Amino acid sequence: MTGTPSRRLVLLGATGSIGTQALDVLTRYPDIARVHGLAVGGSRPELVAEQAVAHRPAQLVVSDAARAEAVGAAVHSACRDAGIPAPQITAGADAVVELAGSLAEGDVVLNAITGSVGLLPTLAALASGARLALANKESLVVGGHLVTDAAAPGQILPVDSEHTAIAQALAGLTHDQIDHLVVTASGGPFRGRSREQLAQVTPEQALAHPTWSMGRVITTNSATLVNKALEVIEACFQFDLPEDRVQVVVHPQSIVHSMVTLVDGSTIAQASPPDMRHAIGWALAHPEKLPGLAAPLDFRTAQSWTFEPVDEDTFDAIALARAAHREGGGAMAVYNAVNEEAVDAFFDGSLSFLGITALIREVLEDPQRPRAQRVDGVGGLLAVEEWARTAARARLTGRGR
Ligand code: NAD
Ligand code: MG
Repeated sequence: MTGTPSRRLVLLGATGSIGTQALDVLTRYPDIARVHGLAVGGSRPELVAEQAVAHRPAQLVVSDAARAEAVGAAVHSACRDAGIPAPQITAGADAVVELAGSLAEGDVVLNAITGSVGLLPTLAALASGARLALANKESLVVGGHLVTDAAAPGQILPVDSEHTAIAQALAGLTHDQIDHLVVTASGGPFRGRSREQLAQVTPEQALAHPTWSMGRVITTNSATLVNKALEVIEACFQFDLPEDRVQVVVHPQSIVHSMVTLVDGSTIAQASPPDMRHAIGWALAHPEKLPGLAAPLDFRTAQSWTFEPVDEDTFDAIALARAAHREGGGAMAVYNAVNEEAVDAFFDGSLSFLGITALIREVLEDPQRPRAQRVDGVGGLLAVEEWARTAARARLTGRGR
């Protein structure tokens, strides 16, 4: 290590799949930034304690106030044993937003929270002037123009293998040279199945992703293809393109992470073995390249990469999202909020796998749904979300399906 780096980092969602891999990257490349603050949900006190000792953040936020005491006890005890000062600990959703907005230009916030609850921290980070390494795609999908209008050019660096790939493929190109984007999809654990075969699948089967190890919500979303749907919309906002210029192709090996086709007919792809530390390290260190960040592909051994169209008759998530995005306003906020409710219901056994996108469709088609073309700021958006969650829950409890 060459001394303490001046760049500070706030990591939201430190105990999750992305969060733990980000800390792994920072351990290997301590010159990227020093950890100023961590935010966690609070379900894993012992892991938070280990992270506090290893990375010595000044601030620690526990979003779930009911878990703050247990986390605080574990952290204080571990810091005492290690003979180091404990971080300042605060709790609650407002404290997460405050931490997200506490840095400045030259610093970096990695938002790796799951769900649209990441929206307010995203906006706070953007207002601070810090770089936003954005894993929480939901905040961009749900917030849309609210988020892109709040961002300076280049302020948001995507931490999503597809979008990180596209950003790399676009280096040195201008927007008017893009014809369209091609987002790759592994196809998830149920690729090739019919709707009849999908009717009975269980949460355990949905959690067995073929190529990536991720949190529960995104893994389920990968099985329904809702994740790919969110990523199409994420690409629209991140790269300022309409949805009909963002294609999806199934590529089961997850090696080509996405592609850009240019107006001259050339297609540029980014390829690397599936390892999220590559995307995380890219976003944190950009424009530097971290030597040895991830194992490169080895073309001395034979390999085949295959590409096939998405079976949109079986998986309707992407078409639903495209329609919601074309409508604009709060439609994507409704889509995402209903999905979050549906995934919870799928895990507690009250909704079938196919019921997830069926519920999204039903609520989107509800004639009562607020359909304002422009949503009135964050407040308006949160109200639309709340309406959608209530509508979803009413259907879930009303039918017991
Ligand atoms: P995860 O469920 O493993 O982790 C979520 C983290 O957020 C946990 O540390 C949890 O304690 C914390 N958390 C929950 N609610 C919080 C709140 N209100 N405030 C602060 N922290 C809170 O999820 P993950 O798989 O790491 O995914 C995180 C985000 O990154 C998601 O938006 C996901 O779509 C995106 N993403 C993940 C991957 C991946 O490989 N896991 C890849 C691309 C994008
Ligand atoms: Mg992705």
